[in-house]
Amino acid sequence: MKKEFAVIGLGRFGGSICRELSREGMEVLALDLEEDKVNEYRDIASHAVIADSTDENVLKELGFRNIDHVIVAIGDNIQASMLTTLILKEMGIKMITVKAQNDYHEKILNKIGADQVVHPERDMGKRIAHNIISNNILDYIELSDDHSVVEVKAGSKMGGQTLVDLDIRAEYGCNVVAIKRDKDVIVSPMATEEIRESDVLIVIGADKDISRFEKNLV
Ligand code: ADP
Repeated sequence: MKKEFAVIGLGRFGGSICRELSREGMEVLALDLEEDKVNEYRDIASHAVIADSTDENVLKELGFRNIDHVIVAIGDNIQASMLTTLILKEMGIKMITVKAQNDYHEKILNKIGADQVVHPERDMGKRIAHNIISNNILDYIELSDDHSVVEVKAGSKMGGQTLVDLDIRAEYGCNVVAIKRDKDVIVSPMATEEIRESDVLIVIGADKDISRFEKNLV
């Protein structure tokens, strides 16, 4: 059966999630307190309703019980975000993703039992900062507080050498998990694979190790 989603709060973040899920053909219930926000999504989401998510009865009447994954994208109103998460948790929703405003908010959301807590502004800021530091860093994904994955253009320092020559694992403690070459992706490349300047490497490791790798080879 098709997975059903609900997005609570249709600001920039929630709105963007709602649009993208709908574009991918997913069943999405969009909900916001404000009528004009809801009107914007009438033709985009499967259902769009004006409601206050802190009202447990309203969520029950809307059939939230049957929804597989709820995204709580309430902005500044931290209290409403926490109360909504708590109600959803008590209703037994299997997957709850919540946007956190700050570390304190995140801590409480984790205690309440949110399955996934996201900080879009903070995370995007980090990704852009890495991209600004080096034009060769194409993308950066945080795996945990101290581990990440970076997507990096091989460039002239690495071009023409094999993974053995560069000895990235021993020298920097990072692993090249894949190489993107034109339209191909070489997953788990062999140590003897010769890197081309135009390749894009996907590197995983501890932040401190990736940072040394970036300084020396990128
Ligand atoms: P962003 O930073 O992603 O743009 P906003 O703060 O602009 O976020 O948007 C949050 C949205 O959440 C607003 O549209 C607001 O009306 C909605 N919202 C706030 N509290 C509730 C609530 N209790 N129930 C439903 N929607 C809410």
